[in-house]
Amino acid sequence: MSSRYSIFSLIRNGLSYHEHWERAWKSPEPKREYDVVIVGGGGHGLATAYYLAKLHGVRNIAVIDKGWIGGGNTARNTTIVRSNYLWDESAQLYEKAMQLWEGLSQELNYNVMFSQRGVMNLAHTLQEVRDTHRRVNANRMNGVDAEFITPAQIQEIEPLINLDTRYPVLGASIQRRAGVARHDAVAWGFARGADQMGVDIIQNCAVTGIRRENGAVTGVDTVKGFIKARKVAVVAAGNSSVLAEMAGVRLPLESHPLQALVSEPVKPCINSVIMSNAVHAYISQSDKGDLVIGAGIDQYTGYGQRGSFQSIEHTLQAIVEMFPALSRVRMNRQWGGIVDVSPDACPIISKTDIQGLYFNCGWGTGGFKATPGSGWVFAHTIANDAPHPLNAPYSIDRFYTGHLIDEHGAAAVAH
Ligand SMILES: Cc1cc2nc3c(=O)[nH]c(=O)nc-3n(C[C@H](O)[C@H](O)[C@H](O)COP(=O)(O)OP(=O)(O)OC[C@H]3O[C@@H](n4cnc5c(N)ncnc54)[C@H](O)[C@@H]3O)c2cc1C
Repeated sequence: MSSRYSIFSLIRNGLSYHEHWERAWKSPEPKREYDVVIVGGGGHGLATAYYLAKLHGVRNIAVIDKGWIGGGNTARNTTIVRSNYLWDESAQLYEKAMQLWEGLSQELNYNVMFSQRGVMNLAHTLQEVRDTHRRVNANRMNGVDAEFITPAQIQEIEPLINLDTRYPVLGASIQRRAGVARHDAVAWGFARGADQMGVDIIQNCAVTGIRRENGAVTGVDTVKGFIKARKVAVVAAGNSSVLAEMAGVRLPLESHPLQALVSEPVKPCINSVIMSNAVHAYISQSDKGDLVIGAGIDQYTGYGQRGSFQSIEHTLQAIVEMFPALSRVRMNRQWGGIVDVSPDACPIISKTDIQGLYFNCGWGTGGFKATPGSGWVFAHTIANDAPHPLNAPYSIDRFYTGHLIDEHGAAAVAH
C-alpha cells in the first residue's frame, strides 16, 4: 500500500532527491479471472472501480484500457465542471457529482486542482434571457446555486469582454460553485485510490471481444488473451458503439470529433469560465496561463482523434469577437477527442438485456463534470444489479418508452 501524500512525505522524499517515491499505481499482468472487468480507463471507469472497491466491497476488479489511463476524452477535455442543468433528473445527477468534486482532493489524497471560479452562460437575445431566467429558477428549485447577472456585473468579473458582439450581451447566468479541475489528475487520483484497494489497472490492452453464454456475459477477449469475468462494465466514451457491437447490442449513439485549443501562456486575464451559445465558443484560463478554448462538435461522424480546420477557424472568430484584446495571442496546441452523442444529449448508465453486461456512455460533450458522480452511481448499479435512483432515468429503456430527458439546451457549446 502506498504511503499518503503529505508535507512530511514531501520533505522525506525531498531529502532523498525525489528518487524513492512509490509508484502511484502498479501495472500488473491480467489475472485469468475477475469479479468485475471495467473496459475503459478514463475518469469514469477509474471512478467506477474506486467506488466499487470503497463502497461496495468488491475488490477483485480489473480496469482495462487499450492505451494509457486518462488518454481518451478525460485528458482531452476543457475541464468545465458545473451542475446547472435544466431538468430535475440531470440537475440531481450533476449536483451529486458537484458535491463529490467539492471533497475530491481530500477523498483521494490527491490534488485534482478543483477551482470554483464560476461559470457564466451569456444570453444574447430576449429569448435567451427568458430561457436563462427559466434555467436559473429551475436550478434553484433543485437546490443548485444559480444567479442571473446584468451586463455591468459581467463586465466587472471579466473586464476584457466585449459586450457589444453581433448579438449584444443582455445578461448571463452564473453558477459560482462551478469551475474547472485538472483533468489527468482526476484519472491519476482515482487510479491511485483504486490501486490501493487492490484493483488491477491494465494499460495497453485492447478489448477485442465480449463473450456471452446463455444470455449472460462470461468475459472479454483482449490482446493479452481471454479474461473471465462475472460482470463486464463498458465505459469507453467515443468507442462505446464498437464495444456494444462486440456483444451484439445496438446503442443509439453517434461518435463525433470534438476539438479544443490552448494558447501560449499569458498573464491572468480571464477570471471565470465564459460560454456563449449564440456567438458559439467558450474560454477559461488555466493556472499556468494558457487560454483554454472550445466550441461545438465537428458535424461528421468518425473515430479519428482530430477534427476539421473549419471548426478551429469558427471557434477563434467567436473568441476574438467576445475578446478582441486576445486577437494577437498565439495558439500553442489543438487536438480532438471522440464524443458519444445520444439523441437526447443525456448519458446512458444502464444494465442491458445480457446478464452481467453494463454500459456507461452517451456523455457526449459534457461528461467530465460528472466523473465522480458517474462512477458513484455506476458502481451502485453494478454491485446491486439495479440502478441507483439518481441514474434510474438514464436507462437504455428510455429510447423504447420515449421518456427522454432533453438536455440539448445544456449541450450545444455549453459543456
Ligand atoms: C475537446 C473536448 C472538450 C470537452 N470539454 C468538456 C468540458 O469542458 N466539460 C465536461 O464536462 N466534459 C467535456 N468533454 C467531455 C468529456 O471529456 C467526456 O464526457 C468524459 O471525459 C468521458 O470520460 P470517460 O472516462 O467516459 O471516457 P474516456 O476518458 O474517453 O475513457 C474511455 C477509455 O476507453 C478506452 N477504450 C476504448 N476502446 C477500448 C477497447 N476496445 N479496449 C479497451 N479500452 C478501450 C479508451 O482508450 C479510453 O481511455 C469534452 C470532450 C472533448 C473531446
